[in-house]
Amino acid sequence: MTGHDPQHIDQTGRCDCGAITLNAQGRVVSMFLCACENCQRSTGTGHSSVVVVHTEAIRTVGATKAFSRPAASGAVFTRQFCPECGTTVFGQSSRAPALRILPIGIFVNHNDWFAPNQLIFARSHQAWDLIEDHLPQHMAYREDGTP
Ligand SMILES: [Zn+2]
Ligand SMILES: [Zn+2]
Repeated sequence: MTGHDPQHIDQTGRCDCGAITLNAQGRVVSMFLCACENCQRSTGTGHSSVVVVHTEAIRTVGATKAFSRPAASGAVFTRQFCPECGTTVFGQSSRAPALRILPIGIFVNHNDWFAPNQLIFARSHQAWDLIEDHLPQHMAYREDGTP
């Protein structure tokens, strides 16, 4: 992150083993938490914490493997992950091909600027997974349809 502008990202992250690095440079479109069943399984935790940027804002080094599944919206959601260590490096939805969804954890130690503004898929969120009370919650996708 350069300076204190939360709307801009300039950050390099990597998967757990280091085979894949990802650089993100550009405008932050959105930051949110997702407690859908797929995120719970794939992260092993109660929700995923993600930052959304434009597709052209990211550059990856190293070959990722893709896993695609139908999303609740009817779109196809694809996770790109490291074939060595399994870390998800980014995700994308066929409904929003111009956007990439980055798990904030790949920027470990450089992600204190993360400020999620909503929880989506609250319908499968569990009370033991503590989140801040003030955060707006949506039962599934948020109403404006952005990922
Ligand atoms: Zn890896
Ligand atoms: Zn999810």
